[in-house]
Amino acid sequence: MSAGRRRVGTVYLVGAGPGDPGLITVRGRDLLSRADVVIADALASRDLLKHATDRAEIVHAGKRGGRGGSDQAQVNRMMIDRARRGLSVVRLKGGDPGLFGRGGEEAEALAAARVPFEIVPGVTAALGAAASAGFPLTHRRLASTVAIATGHLDPSKSDEGTDWEMLARADTLVLYMGVRRLEGIIRRLRAAGRPDATPVAVVRWATLSGQTILEGNLGDIAARARAAGLRPPAVLIAGRVVGLRRRLDWSGRRPLRGRTIAVTRPREQAAPFVDALREQGARVIQAPAIALRPPRSWSALDRALGHLRDFDGLIFTSANGVGRFFARLRHRSIDVRDLEGVQVIAIGPATAAAVEERGLRVAMVPEDYRAEGIIETLRRVDLRGYRVLIPRAEVAREILPETLRRRGAEVEVVPVYRTVPERAGLAEIRAALRRGRLDLLTFTSSSTVTSFARMFQDRRVGRRLRQVPAGVIGPITAATARREGFRVVVMPRGSTAPDLVRAIVRWFRSSPSGTLRGR
Ligand code: SAH
Repeated sequence: MSAGRRRVGTVYLVGAGPGDPGLITVRGRDLLSRADVVIADALASRDLLKHATDRAEIVHAGKRGGRGGSDQAQVNRMMIDRARRGLSVVRLKGGDPGLFGRGGEEAEALAAARVPFEIVPGVTAALGAAASAGFPLTHRRLASTVAIATGHLDPSKSDEGTDWEMLARADTLVLYMGVRRLEGIIRRLRAAGRPDATPVAVVRWATLSGQTILEGNLGDIAARARAAGLRPPAVLIAGRVVGLRRRLDWSGRRPLRGRTIAVTRPREQAAPFVDALREQGARVIQAPAIALRPPRSWSALDRALGHLRDFDGLIFTSANGVGRFFARLRHRSIDVRDLEGVQVIAIGPATAAAVEERGLRVAMVPEDYRAEGIIETLRRVDLRGYRVLIPRAEVAREILPETLRRRGAEVEVVPVYRTVPERAGLAEIRAALRRGRLDLLTFTSSSTVTSFARMFQDRRVGRRLRQVPAGVIGPITAATARREGFRVVVMPRGSTAPDLVRAIVRWFRSSPSGTLRGR
């Protein structure tokens, strides 16, 4: 930093992809994770912001249906200002920054201000829509040209300049931002000679779980869109390739397609379960019901950490417990070698995996993944004088410590986290209930059942909620759910998330309502 001159930071115009947060590029994600400032468009997935660090400044810019003008000037000023302060700026834009996204104008502003920038491409809505609706944009026999156009021209100009004949001649035509002017656009295409029988698909919220597809032909799609009350954001794709959907609609064939499933599980653990349900085609509403927080006091654990070598056994009853135990160990600069000679017991495979990730071997995992299983595993061990540490939630069942004590063990139970109610996702559940569009609730622990039930105090809503079938993991969760009045219909023999997903798929295949509603 010579003569007080600061290095100018770089602005990255990054394509966020069409909606599904998995469809950003690796380059885009890497830049996000190092950005000092993220300026995100309304169409860019909020879920992508989790890649940014906690210290990054996050700015939500641009309303949907973009009022442009002053907003745009403000975004430009902000990018330039932050870069001049030496900060690294990610300007996150829906789809690709260079397609109808004003990416060009933003780059021009940066160039004029001599701010260094880079353009990182993204999967544009047309590509996302075609892929997830299940057809290619070109095909050797059916289409060799693609035109991409916007239905929403600069309002200050008339669309006299649009070459409708040229657009009508492209084998495949994709229209962005055309929902509000759909009828006019279609009239012009027909007038320009495009046959009424041309297959058309309108894809709304492409690649997201709320994606809807309207299919028809040029002659009837406007009426269909009106009847369906179609609203933005959607792209219209016209051409013979659309007809290939009949054979290539891979997502419509997924067994949970069209099902809405609520997942009540703390965010930290929900991802693999949620992903597996989505993979099968389900729309997932995440309503964690509980969130994990640090315990009110670390002193019990800290005391135990001071004499780890005195313990014979260490029992983990959840992967959360493992994570938080080792985080505290690190925080206190305690070496895992202090656990040398301590026998580690994990309640189930996920918990064991969490332990082994930290480089420690697990001595025992019961066959039955619950406290009773651990007790059973230790059946033949003489527990008199056995000193055991159990790091776990502040509130939990007492059967494990009590039984071990009765058999002569010295048990120290220390809280490593506590659970608090979490209201995220509840409004979405209510809305789905109102529309009769909630097909299954899932519970993976008793504490989430109780917390979830408590959040629906309203009699009517509560009653309707309890009519929705529920899938659970484990007999204890099932018992709690039944006690709370839920209708448990799915409980796999195994206790892992993949077991539950498989059982859910089987249930929808075989249950009467599962076949009645069809796709
Ligand atoms: N730069 C973006 C386009 C921005 S213009 C891109 O490359 O995709 C906004 C228009 O994009 C919307 O009006 C709609 O036509 C389209 N669009 C963006 N995301 C979409 C999505 N997930 N599903 C359908 N259309 C989408």
